[in-house]
Amino acid sequence: MKKEIDRIQELRKRLDQYAYEYYTLDRPTISDSEYDALFRELEELEAKHPEAFDRNSITQRVGYEVLTEFKKVRHSRPMLSLGDVFSYEELRAWYKKIVDVYGKIDFCVEYKIDGLAMNLFYEDGFFKQATTRGNGVEGEDVSSNVKTIRSIPMEIPYRQPYEIRGEIYMPKESFRALNAKRALKGEEEFANPRNAAAGSIRQLDSRIAASRGLDGIWYYVPDDVNASTHYDSLAYAKQLGFKINDTNRLFNDIDAICNYIDEVAKIRHELPYEIDGMVIKVNRYDIQEDLGYTTRVPKWAIAYKFPPEEVTSIVEDIFITVGRTGKCTPNAKLKSVKLQGSTISYATLHNEDMIKQKDIRINDTVVIRKAGDIIPEVVRSLKEKRNGQQLPYIFPEFCPVCGSKLLRLKGEANHYCINSDCPAKVAQSIVHFASRNAMNIEGLGERKVEIFYEKGILRSIEDIYTLASKRDLILSIEKFGEKSYQNLIEAIERSKQNSLEQLIFGLGIRQIGEKAAKILAARFQTMEDLMSAEVEDLKDIRDIGEITAIAVYDFFHDEHNVALIDNLKLYGLNMRYLGTAIESSPFMDKTIVLTGSLELYSRNEATKLLESLGAHVTSSVSKKTDFVIYGANAGSKYDKALSLNVKVISEAEFKKMMEEE
Ligand code: NAD
Repeated sequence: MKKEIDRIQELRKRLDQYAYEYYTLDRPTISDSEYDALFRELEELEAKHPEAFDRNSITQRVGYEVLTEFKKVRHSRPMLSLGDVFSYEELRAWYKKIVDVYGKIDFCVEYKIDGLAMNLFYEDGFFKQATTRGNGVEGEDVSSNVKTIRSIPMEIPYRQPYEIRGEIYMPKESFRALNAKRALKGEEEFANPRNAAAGSIRQLDSRIAASRGLDGIWYYVPDDVNASTHYDSLAYAKQLGFKINDTNRLFNDIDAICNYIDEVAKIRHELPYEIDGMVIKVNRYDIQEDLGYTTRVPKWAIAYKFPPEEVTSIVEDIFITVGRTGKCTPNAKLKSVKLQGSTISYATLHNEDMIKQKDIRINDTVVIRKAGDIIPEVVRSLKEKRNGQQLPYIFPEFCPVCGSKLLRLKGEANHYCINSDCPAKVAQSIVHFASRNAMNIEGLGERKVEIFYEKGILRSIEDIYTLASKRDLILSIEKFGEKSYQNLIEAIERSKQNSLEQLIFGLGIRQIGEKAAKILAARFQTMEDLMSAEVEDLKDIRDIGEITAIAVYDFFHDEHNVALIDNLKLYGLNMRYLGTAIESSPFMDKTIVLTGSLELYSRNEATKLLESLGAHVTSSVSKKTDFVIYGANAGSKYDKALSLNVKVISEAEFKKMMEEE
């Protein structure tokens, strides 16, 4: 009991400090998910202990006092925060409580944009004032900065006093550009677009705010006399010239709401701005008023928060892995944490410079996120959590596997083990050679290669083609049955017929990925011709720059590699390109943009197809674009192509061209 009261006090103090860092300094020191979890814990404990109620507790307040030199303005109606739920179960419970009273009613479901709340006020049809949420009761007058946002109308066709609320946000692209600029100047980077937007809006010099690429989307009209529902009030605001999100949807069914949220969750990373959840609002104004408000949130709306993308953990160790090219990658061994449904225990640290730049040390508390939703990476270390036990990491001089001296080439961030016999390198190069997109030898994954390597059965790429003569040895390995052995040998046999690009990619030449391998194979047609190409010949190929050309040339002028290819030839591997020569394609070397919804191909298929024909598929239309291929409902990219005289091809025409190929 006493313990819980103590915990309440402790949580209030800590959350106050975090909120100050977040709202006032725009510099959070813990992840949002960690903050949300502590906030929840405090709410639950306070509910259990009403005797410990304190109206100054963070759970009773909105935002935080922002100490700036802007004029303070009292809101006509409090600007509140939103209650939040973190699962469909909780969302359904919230929904049920309302429909149990009001029956089947409409809910408006909207993106929860991660920016800062803003109130706009118009008088006599003119923009008068923009105020931040502040502490909910009073905000700051930031009109001069908000006025610099071009999409906000300075005049509206409505003469009565008019107030509208929404979110000022920084699009992802502006955020990346801003942080890149700050990094160049050695200034501290913003933790996320929301803090960057808030920091920009609170600049005293409005030229700074103007340069930050901010935008606004509007989602609430308090006391609108022109409508009786929320949705209609936004439709009216749109007519007045405000930017309203056209992804807002009305539903009167909780399953449909959850389906819509699922749908948005899948595409949210493709949006030009960050969203951290969805907001579900009762549509009818009269029911909203009936449901009312707490001191902190309206009871007629709720935020469904997406599972955290970022979490904090502790770096228990830093260790190096050696890849097939000899590249030494530092990795953090983390205290296990859950992130987007999986348990994360390791994260890449990329290279020595990255560790130095982010100043990541063993025993540091760090923020982790999934990069491109796949590989976890360490975003930053939280220096304020250091307790003196953090040790700066010193990148090793020698390969942790074979002991040879590591090399860091001029102009490259990575260290390499250049010993071609390094066991880690050899094993990884075999794994890569056998991998699906290379020689596609099923049954020869990382674990198998490691075992075969240890047993001395497989010590080089060419050894793969001797496995058929090592039946007894292989079968003597525990858990290796006759059937797997037969499957493996058949997969190896089949790989001999692969087209040249698979072999080129499988050889693991530095700088040569799948796409470059295909370009080389299609250009030279045979391994022999590729091997005798000069740097100049290689450099002349589009997409093959000088560094790549030199890497390819060097690879084929290394006696070990020449011997390897000779041996592979002897084992009967195909050394010819079996695809169509891509030079004849009308898309060769063309820059193409896909737009609208394609029906005959998926985006991915169309992109792959075009790339295999030598095209470059890009996302924005410019004078340099050769063709725009459009599907149904094509919008601004199509219009832009027409205005720039860029040739447009319908998806059906494109398909026809493909069939004629
Ligand atoms: P919130 O961001 O969770 O939700 C309320 C806000 O959502 C509104 O004020 C509005 O600005 C915004 N919003 C976006 N789209 C909307 C829409 N369509 N309709 C209505 N509102 C919409 O609440 P908050 O009070 O602004 O901030 C609290 C959150 O901030 C916490 O949950 C936490 O994630 C984060 N926080 C983090 C730290 C930290 O240290 N990391 C500290 C304090 C707060």
